[in-house]
Amino acid sequence: MRLPIYHQRPLFDTEWRLFVVHMHAASRLHYDFRLEYAHSLKSWVLPYGLCLDPTRRRRAVLVNDHPIACVESEGTIPAGRYGAGTIMLWDRGIWRTDQDMAQALRGGRLKFELRGNKLKGIWSLIRESYGFGAKQDWHLRKESDREAKPLSETDILVAKPLSVVTNRTLVEIASEPPLFIPAKSKRNSKSKKPAPNQLPLFPDDLEP
Ligand code: MN
Repeated sequence: MRLPIYHQRPLFDTEWRLFVVHMHAASRLHYDFRLEYAHSLKSWVLPYGLCLDPTRRRRAVLVNDHPIACVESEGTIPAGRYGAGTIMLWDRGIWRTDQDMAQALRGGRLKFELRGNKLKGIWSLIRESYGFGAKQDWHLRKESDREAKPLSETDILVAKPLSVVTNRTLVEIASEPPLFIPAKSKRNSKSKKPAPNQLPLFPDDLEP
């Protein structure tokens, strides 16, 4: 299902950009956190979802940028295709930061504000500093503000499980015919090995 969302972008404030959170039932259920930046979507896989509790950090694995068109994606990607599984638009809205984004990504610390339907207020994405070869390991955390809530009071994943655009459950979305995805030419798909300096599309233990 594709739905127009660009009307949500304030026309006279270019600092605000789109964000979207997908719920993705691949071989393992996870969430995908995507921030519009430089004409694509910076994407983190959230294997354990997210919460509004500032004392709880949630693993966020940086993966390759996704096309901006993903902000409208909801439906089922057929088996065998990239990102196979059912995808729900769990939340969407706009985000901004006071930081220089390129610098924040390099330094591994990004503090930002969300104005979504479900997620609001100040959040941080912070790269883990330990380990080796773990450049893609970050965590997402809610900062303390009026939108923060202890997990013992509110688990937003449980409290708000429906699609933000269609109010459907994952099961309802999955019951519809899969999305049509045009086949790629063989020549293109063969050259898809990431260059050595690129992050893997998805870490071995995660599904797209
Ligand atoms: Mn995914």
